[in-house]
Amino acid sequence: MESLPIFMRIAHSRCLVIGGGDVALRKVTMLMKAEASIEVVAPEVCSELLALEAEQQIKITRAEFSPAQIDGAVLVIAATDDEAVNTQVSVEAKVRNVPVNVVDSPALCTFTMPAIIDRSPLVIAISSNGSAPVLARLIRAKIETMVPATYGRLASLAREFRDDVKAKFTTTQNRRIFWEKVFQGPIAELMFSGQERAAKSALKAEIASGLDQQHGEVYLVGGGPGDPDLLTFRALRLMQQCDVCVYDKLVSKEVMELVRRDAELIYVGKARDQHTLPQEEINHLLVKFAKEGKRVLRLKGGDPFIFGRGGEEIETLMENGVPFQVVPGITAANGVSSYAGIPLTHRDHAQSCIFTTGHLKPKNGTQQNVVELDWVALTRPNQTVVIYMGLVGLDQICAKLVEHGLPATTPAAVVQQGTTLKQRVVVGDLTNLAEKTGLADLKPPCLIIVGGVVKLREKLAWFEPMQD
Ligand code: SAH
Repeated sequence: MESLPIFMRIAHSRCLVIGGGDVALRKVTMLMKAEASIEVVAPEVCSELLALEAEQQIKITRAEFSPAQIDGAVLVIAATDDEAVNTQVSVEAKVRNVPVNVVDSPALCTFTMPAIIDRSPLVIAISSNGSAPVLARLIRAKIETMVPATYGRLASLAREFRDDVKAKFTTTQNRRIFWEKVFQGPIAELMFSGQERAAKSALKAEIASGLDQQHGEVYLVGGGPGDPDLLTFRALRLMQQCDVCVYDKLVSKEVMELVRRDAELIYVGKARDQHTLPQEEINHLLVKFAKEGKRVLRLKGGDPFIFGRGGEEIETLMENGVPFQVVPGITAANGVSSYAGIPLTHRDHAQSCIFTTGHLKPKNGTQQNVVELDWVALTRPNQTVVIYMGLVGLDQICAKLVEHGLPATTPAAVVQQGTTLKQRVVVGDLTNLAEKTGLADLKPPCLIIVGGVVKLREKLAWFEPMQD
């Protein structure tokens, strides 16, 4: 993050605008909304600024810029069309530690003005840090349509009752849960439909009857294969309202970014061979947090019920009477094959598809690690085989498939970090895939896809991120 988004109270504080044209006027209008005490400095000003002066909304100093004018200002905006003056304003403001914005010159600014959606007291600001103001404005237009104008009224209502709620509910967590219920429930609906009086009495009643004690629950959520756009709406909603997030290695950084900022994050590992916390302990951790009244997000890569041990986790929750819900995610087989341009079924190549795990297990009574699978089932014709957790055992897997009857020429692929910008795909056949993969130095997680459909990638590959 290149700059810190903050909202600054400037009511009745002296704000200086250097320049008297249209651009200055735009900035003045914005500062007026925040009730600043505005001084415009320019030898000449446009008629609109003159009108504001006549209404005593702003003060105009008819002069060239001089550094001493900055003294005592809480912020300065340079909006002249003279580059030298703009630069001088920037330099002098920086020397005095006064925040400065120079219109259209991000390099000269210590703060930039975001695109805003004003639903006062609710304000949404969007910034591209000066890189793409047009994009910021387009995003603003999208959000404008999504946030009803009445949200501002709702925020005002909340402000009116903030102290009462604080007095009634003792912990921040309980207050947050209370407000989330208000903002997502019938009280908000009453406000949106203009029944403000009814909304107010309903809110009063809700505060009076609310219990200062909350019940915890667990959300077992599939975070998908990596690309955050592949999350479900429900996943996102629950990710935004959890108190604690228990997550493992497979969840992508981009998906983690969408978890509520204030949630406590607990990493429970699960990288191959270095389980940070044993499964039993994870199960009990979820129970413990829920019993403390917390809303626990158990966030997993892909889908929780596909090689995700989700079943075991909810079993423990059930035994302990903890309420929970399960949100499916796009499993690696689905997401990764789509992004690799490999359809899992195809009229000419595969009428069925098997998902299996290629995890190595110690062979009974030996030091050796082996992959033990139902090779007969995996080598049936006209079928696609998708192997999770198979990178380490890849050479064994390919050899066994050939040994049990698949032609050595069967196309096969390994996809690294599918759906993300780090996606890489290695394609070969059962004789050379392991070697090619080794040479390419692929990093986990990797998914193996075996079958005639892999050939289709030659035509259908579409997702090609630029590698750094
Ligand atoms: N529950 C998960 C799977 C967990 S097992 C799901 O439904 O996807 C972990 C294995 O999933 C990894 O070893 C790898 O084989 C596969 N995997 C998960 N995400 C992947 C990705 N983005 N790219 C490639 N393989 C992935």
